[in-house]
Amino acid sequence: MYNLKDMTLEEMEEFFVNIGESRYRAKQIYKWIYDKKITDFDEMTDISKNLRSKLKEIAYISQLKIEERRVSEVDDTVKYLFLLEDNNIIEGVAIKYRFGNTACVSTQVGCNMRCSFCASAIGGKVRDLKASEMVDQVIAIDGDYGKISNIVLMGSGEPFDNYDEVMKFIKIVNNPYGLGIGGRHITISTCGIVPKIYKFADEKLQVNLSISLHAPNDELRTQLMPINKAYPLEELMKACKYYVEKTRRRITFEYSLIEGVNDKKEHAYQLVDLLKGKLCHVNLIPINYVKEIGFKKANNEKVMMFKKIIEDAGISCTVRRELGSDIEAACGQLRRKYLKER
Ligand code: SF4
Repeated sequence: MYNLKDMTLEEMEEFFVNIGESRYRAKQIYKWIYDKKITDFDEMTDISKNLRSKLKEIAYISQLKIEERRVSEVDDTVKYLFLLEDNNIIEGVAIKYRFGNTACVSTQVGCNMRCSFCASAIGGKVRDLKASEMVDQVIAIDGDYGKISNIVLMGSGEPFDNYDEVMKFIKIVNNPYGLGIGGRHITISTCGIVPKIYKFADEKLQVNLSISLHAPNDELRTQLMPINKAYPLEELMKACKYYVEKTRRRITFEYSLIEGVNDKKEHAYQLVDLLKGKLCHVNLIPINYVKEIGFKKANNEKVMMFKKIIEDAGISCTVRRELGSDIEAACGQLRRKYLKER
């Protein structure tokens, strides 16, 4: 059975041609699925009865069940637990910003990248998500929370470790007949899988790129993020340079501040040396607590000291507001579960 939500518009056009139907059926079906959010073929009134029966035999349209909804008591953040067909549970988050509602989407069940501060890494990767399972997170959040205008791929999983499905997801949500969310409103975050940064640069998309940096030198970064052993900072920075030259787009570097680990003055100066003169922005994140990991967030004074050193060097820098930390919905706090574990 084909899940129609796993098809880009071009793939769906091909699908209809292959079953002896006209290409334009794809746009009609896309409209039902993404504009009207209909998943039952029988409700698609402009599709002939014959075609509806034919479709029912060979295809379906998935939906994602919201298993649980946790609402923050301190801000407007909502964390969702979604039940997948194979009983795995993934998490997604809705966040309210001044510029609109953002859906933070997971790309894998668990994650293999083993970043030492991250709950998603506990237990490793179980599997990649299909494009439809990412699209369904956005649709479910949109239906429950309100109109979603921005998407960040910063939930559990490393998006570039599931590259093809993530690209397909982007094409579906970006298509005007799909969810119509502009590329500039989509951000993909990577821990630094260098070959995929080159590949992504060549896609020539308008999508934003964010790099989880978290340390300004190789020794510390390898301790915090094992990916750095395979792709050390010099290689990562070369790939970032290529991306900026190719796309003319600014990269955001995410830097989680961990007390006593990467929050010293010398780290801020090393970060400046690494990024000075580059088209970039630094986003400082006071690290969020995960009980199995135990890192503590840097205090406010340290955060402000860090910010000042970076800004004084002419690099734009913000401190990310802590949203949803009381419901474990903040960065690094998302995790996978299996239904029977709960
Ligand atoms: S920070 Fe991202 S890449 Fe690293 S383990 Fe967590 S989900 Fe994976």
